[in-house]
Amino acid sequence: MEKKKRIVIALGGNALGNTLPEQMTAVKITARAIVDLIEEGCEVVVAHGNGPQVGMINNAMAALSREDEKQPNTPLSVCVAMSQAYIGYDLQNALREELYNRSIFNIPVATMITQIRVDADDPAFLSPSKPIGHFMTEEQARIAEKKYDYVMKEDSGRGWRRVVASPKPAEIIEIGAIRSLVESGQLVIACGGGGIPVTKQGNHLKGASAVIDKDFASCLLAEELNADFLIILTAVEKVAINFGKSNETWLEDLPVKKAEQYMEEGHFAPGSMLPKVQAAVKFASSGEGRTALITLLEKAKDGILGKTGTRIHQ
Ligand code: ADP
Ligand code: MG
Repeated sequence: MEKKKRIVIALGGNALGNTLPEQMTAVKITARAIVDLIEEGCEVVVAHGNGPQVGMINNAMAALSREDEKQPNTPLSVCVAMSQAYIGYDLQNALREELYNRSIFNIPVATMITQIRVDADDPAFLSPSKPIGHFMTEEQARIAEKKYDYVMKEDSGRGWRRVVASPKPAEIIEIGAIRSLVESGQLVIACGGGGIPVTKQGNHLKGASAVIDKDFASCLLAEELNADFLIILTAVEKVAINFGKSNETWLEDLPVKKAEQYMEEGHFAPGSMLPKVQAAVKFASSGEGRTALITLLEKAKDGILGKTGTRIHQ
């Protein structure tokens, strides 16, 4: 029998929605897309983002400590851990149900709480860039700065938001456990929200105040699991050059060299498409036969069959 293709899927914001009810609905569509790939004979590992969810949890925990002075503010690393469990809960239930609906009863689903080591000297700690949570007035922002030591920034004329550091992932702490589950045929959800960022202090892992980009965390996971494919599922069917302009061109086949050229020319927006193309290039360059695919969530199956999406390869 031919060996199953191993796929790491990175789910973006539209796979999970922005609120509790939205997430409940979104995961059903997401589960269908994932189980489609399993029915195509692929071995799937799921990673996901947590932008809206970690912001929501962070705000809720901040409100708790405002109301009850015995409750200190919750570290961001703990908020990421909470987001992994909450998203994992919804995803693993939706996946289990979809598998059962298709009479697939032999694939257990599990969520792995995943810590990812980051470098304490990562320059990202010196320039927080990733906005999380709700918008505030300048006055509220100044109070949050003083009270919680938050870094606050004005976000494109829309109000003030907390920004956090987004360091690069260096090592997946639970990779051994993830690998055992994957090798035993389980459907694993791991590295949620980019993983819980930690730094090493001897044997102690210290939670870091940061949120790792899920595109980079998924790339590292795919490399470590020796995956054949990294599939980044997002809100566009293909990657474009001259995106949003009159000469916009959608890309299907994208060799690493071309992708690097387009990155240099500034075709991909930082914070949205750029990290995806960077992660795709890194994965495709990391070994023979490794391919990355960027496409729309609903098109995952067509993408793997070579019918759509942007394929990044060596
Ligand atoms: P996710 O939550 O999946 O990470 P993002 O919103 O961060 O999604 O990134 C996807 C978005 O990137 C698309 O919806 C699109 O608006 C934007 N984008 C920016 N540059 C490009 C480009 N060159 N080609 C396609 N999409 C782009
Ligand atoms: Mg994103």
